[in-house]
Amino acid sequence: MARALHQSLRPVIGRFAPSPTGMLHLGSLTTAVASFCHIKSLGGQWLLRIEDVDFERCKSKYTQSILDDLENLGLTWDQSVTYQSDRLDIYNAIIQDKLKTLTYPCQCSRKQLQDFYDSHPHAFTPVIDSSMACLSQTESLNAPPIYPRLCLHQAHDEICSKIRLQLPDVMSGFFDGLQGMIWDNPAKSLGDVVIKRQNNMINYILSCAIDDGLQNITHVMRGLDILPMTIAQLSILAMCQLPTPDYFYHLPLLHNPDGQKLSKQNLAKPIHGEKPSQLLTHCLTLLGQPIAHDMASGTPSEILAFAISNWTNTPLKNKTSLGISKY
Ligand code: GLU
Repeated sequence: MARALHQSLRPVIGRFAPSPTGMLHLGSLTTAVASFCHIKSLGGQWLLRIEDVDFERCKSKYTQSILDDLENLGLTWDQSVTYQSDRLDIYNAIIQDKLKTLTYPCQCSRKQLQDFYDSHPHAFTPVIDSSMACLSQTESLNAPPIYPRLCLHQAHDEICSKIRLQLPDVMSGFFDGLQGMIWDNPAKSLGDVVIKRQNNMINYILSCAIDDGLQNITHVMRGLDILPMTIAQLSILAMCQLPTPDYFYHLPLLHNPDGQKLSKQNLAKPIHGEKPSQLLTHCLTLLGQPIAHDMASGTPSEILAFAISNWTNTPLKNKTSLGISKY
C-alpha cells in the first residue's frame, strides 16, 4: 500500500543517458526516440544526462554532436542537461558515507588476475540466470570472470587503488516491461565490481545508478545490453537509500550484418548529417510503431507528435533484435 501510494505521487520522469565516446548512431538514436516517445506518451518529463565519467574515452566534441543531433531531430529535453563529470564529488561522497563498509581497495593487476584465472579454470565463471536468455550468447559469454576476492580483507588506506563494492549474494527479481520477469544474483553474475578505478575514474555502474536515484527517475527505457547490470544497480540504490525507478524496459537491439550489436566499437556509422525526418521515420519503423501515410515528408515535430500519440510497447515485447541496420 505504502509503495503504491509512493509511486502514484511521483511525477513520471524518464531519461536518455548517452556516454559521449562517439557520435550518435542508429542504435543509440532508436533508444533515444523510444524513450522520448514513450515518456511523452505518459505525459512525463524526458531528461538528458551525459554520462561522461570515463575521461579517457569521452570527448566534448562527441557531447556537442549528440546535443546537436537531438535538437535537429526535435528530441528536446526537459530541465538542463546533467553532466556526470560535474558530479564527481557527489559520487565520491556516497562511496565514503554510504558504501564504505561494503567496499575495499584492490591492488590486483590485470596480469595477476589473468594468471589466477588461468590456474583456476572455470572456478570463477559468472552465473547468468536463464531469465536473461534474451541476451545473445556472445553477450553472456563475454561476461568477465568473477573477481576471486584476493583483496577482500584489505583495509582502506590513502594509497590510490581501485575500489571494489560487494554486491549482495541473493537472488532478486524485477519485472521488465518488455522482457518479462528477470532474475539475477549479482554476487554470482558480476561479483565485487570495481566502482572507482585507480586513476580515480568512477565507473558507469555506480554513477548511473546514483543519478537515476537522485534525479527521481521513474521509468528507464534503455538497450537490452545493459540488462545484466540492472539488479546490481537496484542493489546499489538500496545500499545508498535512494529511490529506485518503478519501471524498466530493456529495448531490443539493432545488429550489424555480422550479427553483432550495432555499437561505436564496431564502427556503426554516425547519423550526423542525415535528413532528420527520414531518420525519425526509419527509427519508428524499426521500433514497429504505426507509420502515417507519407510520414517522412512531415517535419520532425509533426512526426514526433504522431509517434507520441500512437506510441505502443507491444511490438517491442519479448524481442531481442530490431533487425539488421542498413546504415
Ligand atoms: N551511458 C550508457 C550508454 O551510453 C547508457 C546508460 C543507461 O541508459 O542506463 O551505453
